[in-house]
Amino acid sequence: MAYAPSRPNPALPPVRVNLYSDTQTRPSLAMKEAMMRADVGDEQNGDDPTVNALCDRMAALTGKEAAVFLPSGTMCNQISIAVHCRPGDEILAHEASHIVTNEGGGPGALAGAVVLGLRGNRGMFDVPTMRAAFREKRRNAPPQTLLSVEQTANLGGGSVWKLDALNAVLDAAHDWGMATHMDGARLMNAVVAAGVPASDMAARCDSVWLDFTKGLGAPLGAVLCGSSAFIDQAWRWKQRLGGALRQAGLSAAGCLYALDHNIDRLAEDHANASALARGLAQVPGIVVETPETNLVFFDVKGTGMTADELAGRARGQGVSVSVMSAYRVRACTHLDVDRAGVDLAIQVIRDCMPK
Ligand SMILES: *Cc1c(COP(=O)(O)O)cnc(C)c1O
Repeated sequence: MAYAPSRPNPALPPVRVNLYSDTQTRPSLAMKEAMMRADVGDEQNGDDPTVNALCDRMAALTGKEAAVFLPSGTMCNQISIAVHCRPGDEILAHEASHIVTNEGGGPGALAGAVVLGLRGNRGMFDVPTMRAAFREKRRNAPPQTLLSVEQTANLGGGSVWKLDALNAVLDAAHDWGMATHMDGARLMNAVVAAGVPASDMAARCDSVWLDFTKGLGAPLGAVLCGSSAFIDQAWRWKQRLGGALRQAGLSAAGCLYALDHNIDRLAEDHANASALARGLAQVPGIVVETPETNLVFFDVKGTGMTADELAGRARGQGVSVSVMSAYRVRACTHLDVDRAGVDLAIQVIRDCMPK
């Protein structure tokens, strides 16, 4: 078992359509020009004007008092957990959420918190499921101090919590004395898909963050938002983990460019994802989960191939998709994939089917 990412295999043809992830977006020339022109300063002294401008914009966008610039979304999640929880505390989150599946056991390793994974369709859960997980407040029970929700829910299928359902679980958590956290890696995809402002989506969340390195197309950066008191404590963890930066305005300028230019266009990614889903649904044996945003999940069991086999064959034809489990595949649309790319990917996947 290899723990490090492998290098590209030179025997493979170049990737023509990269549906592997929206993390593979490259900064455009215009974004790089904005980065090149950025005013910068020493970020950890509060002296970087571009980072400060980005944090002000993000606080306003999410309707929070304050914000802090961080290198990655994972650090936003882990710092939030460390601020909200003490060692021994329990976090409620969907069992397929990123903090459970993809952060190296961070809640246990860094904050000393445990996660109780909740079940539910498409990465979401309801109030009865949460209530069933509430523990009587006894000396021998772990204190339940944090509810974490993903908007959109990644492994749930890029699904969007409806505002009512979202607010219901957030209110139930507050009533139970818990803090609430939103992993908004793809929050703007949810905002564009639902037509609900980010500040409404995050109104009942004590902390919320947005990743700039997914569909927004920036090379580096995420911004965590919350009350001034929360962000003060987040800064101590930023310093502690080595996430306090120097001339980070170079990166923040890419994020500001993304806020100005790359949000409305997410609707194109969603339309491309729908087109991809419609095309794949016509391939015999493939069962597609109807996409709500830019992530298309499909099951290939009925084709007689495993997800690995299909992904390997498609990659051999220049189409990159990601394997999620034995038969589940994810294809992700983003700003470096146009409709012609989607059509080509459908054709290639059709051609990969056993004859
Ligand atoms: C990508 C992602 C993260 C982590 O963000 P990084 O910037 O890759 O560290 C967290 N949560 C969700 C739902 C994600 O998709």
